[in-house]
Formats: sequence, structure tokens, C-alpha cells
Amino acid sequence: MSTARGRNHAVGQEFLVSVAQIAKAPGSRRSIHFFGVLEGLEVSGSRVPKGDEVEVEVLLESVSEGILVTGRVTTRFEGVCRRCLEPAGQALVIPIQELCVEDPTDEETYPLGHDLLDLAPVVHDACILSLPLAPLCSEECRGICPTCGANRNLEECSCEAERDPRWDALNELRGSGTIGREDSTPVTNE
Ligand SMILES: [Zn+2]
Ligand SMILES: [Zn+2]
Repeated sequence: MSTARGRNHAVGQEFLVSVAQIAKAPGSRRSIHFFGVLEGLEVSGSRVPKGDEVEVEVLLESVSEGILVTGRVTTRFEGVCRRCLEPAGQALVIPIQELCVEDPTDEETYPLGHDLLDLAPVVHDACILSLPLAPLCSEECRGICPTCGANRNLEECSCEAERDPRWDALNELRGSGTIGREDSTPVTNE
């Protein structure tokens, strides 16, 4: 995802697309494909790596209200696995469909300039909404042993084999941070 590197342009410039032609003729379309860098693509648990280009493939369609933007954004995220605390990361393909109007009056629509449409806010919001708050390195991640701290994806610790079922409830409480509470809630194993 680095085809635009070395090209001489201002940051965010790629996201400005001309709609002068299609805006004049309702029903007309223009398809756009570009790579661009946006800043601040980050939530508490993950981010698009700084300086990474996102790929934008959209169809701009002139409709009576404005310009309808339909397509997808392709990027990737990086973060820390919530179970094992190792690096987590994965590709993200985000479908988008947004309406851009000259006078946005609600939070459902995006602003449309006279001849130019800035796709940066559309792409920014799509990325932010798709970034995982609590990523996993994989769906099968087995996490860290609460007893000995071993990464159970890498090694089989002996805790499990020797485990006394009577300790399960205690470990569950430790894991969920509720240990020490007076009222012990019933614990079920998944
Ligand atoms: Zn993990
Ligand atoms: Zn262990």
C-alpha cells in the first residue's frame, strides 16, 4: 500500500476530488481510486499505523440532494491483544456509503464544496468506526495463564493439568477483578 510515496503533494491533497463535471448532470458518475495518508486514525485500543496510506475506491454519483459516495476503504490496524498482550494487527476493508450535501444540517451527511469534495472526513470516520477498541491477535488467542503468567499461545504451562477445580472460582474472580468483594456471585465456566 505505498504506490504514492515519493510523489510531490501536500498531505491530504489526494482526498480532494473534483465534482464540477458530475454535479452539473444529475445521474452522472465518477469513479475514484487513490491512496492517501490521514492523521489521527486512532482509538483507545488500536490505530492505523502512522504514515500508512489508506486505499480509497469509491463511486461518486450525482443525485438530487448532492453527491452519493459508495465504495470501500482498505487499511490495516495495529494494537495490543487484549488477551495475551502481544502485538495484534489485521487488514480492514471498510464499506462506505455516505451522502455529501452543500448544506449539511444533520450528522448523517457530509459537506460538499462547490466544485470540490473533500473525502477526508468520510474516510476518517469510516476508519475510526472500524478500528477495534479491544483487538485480538487472533480469534483463537488463548491468552495468559492467570496462575503463572505464561503465554498459552506459546507454551503449555502445567497449571491447567494440576488444576484443582475448587480454585476455578477463585481464578475467575481474580481475572475479573471482583476478588475481595463480600458478596460472591456464582461463577460459571464457559
Ligand atoms: Zn493474543
Ligand atoms: Zn500456568
